[in-house]
Amino acid sequence: MLDLVNIQTYYGNIQALKNISIHIDEGEIVTLIGANGAGKTTTLMSISGIVPPKSGTITFLGEPIHDLNAEQIVARGISQVPEGRHIFPYLTVMENLDMGAFLRTDKRNIRADLEMIFEMFPILSDRRHQEGGTLSGGEQQMLAISRALMARPRLLLLDEPSLGLAPLIIKKIFIIIKEINRTRNTTIFLVEQNANLALHVADRGYVMENGSITMEDTAAALLVNEDVKRSYLGI
Ligand code: ATP
Repeated sequence: MLDLVNIQTYYGNIQALKNISIHIDEGEIVTLIGANGAGKTTTLMSISGIVPPKSGTITFLGEPIHDLNAEQIVARGISQVPEGRHIFPYLTVMENLDMGAFLRTDKRNIRADLEMIFEMFPILSDRRHQEGGTLSGGEQQMLAISRALMARPRLLLLDEPSLGLAPLIIKKIFIIIKEINRTRNTTIFLVEQNANLALHVADRGYVMENGSITMEDTAAALLVNEDVKRSYLGI
């Protein structure tokens, strides 16, 4: 479904991604783990067109997307939930969700998707007329995921969904991530610093260090890999 081949991405003179190659098959949950500053967010930004790569190719559903802008990439079926959520704090929950569907014209399906989201996150239904900025951290994460789902993505990019949330809320968010993958036919690329959590929900994983991919395997194999255990699982 998604193929990154030899991607190199820079911020000015700083090279953040050094020749990385990643592939994701339809229906998978794939995770990218690594330390602070390894290049995980940049990988997502390169896919979504926010920080375009300097060289290499990105193919999505058989078409090259590395030369498209962020809006065109959303229209192709890729939505990103950014680190830190970035919901619109002065817009209501409903207005935030409407923003997620801004490229769509299929009104009946939009309504159906909204109902599905309110079933998945009843708290967002209760708070639909409340400003986004007044929600708790966990509720804002639910809103950020829901806003991305309102674009009906085929591929959902999640950047650190556990960041700053209490353990019980994180558990709930990860159950929902699995549910979105299973019931919504949505492929998921998950960036996480919490490697243990990410590898328990994912099918496969990549490990990133200093802008390079250093390991790639099934999540089950990475969970018992001695290097991964020592460096990322604290075992
Ligand atoms: P974190 O978990 O802390 O977000 P990360 O693995 O997502 O880390 P990136 O945010 O992708 O890593 O950063 C990769 C490298 O690029 C780091 O060296 C970082 O300092 C640098 N970098 C990131 N954003 C910028 C920017 N806007 N300008 C310059 N350098 C940047």
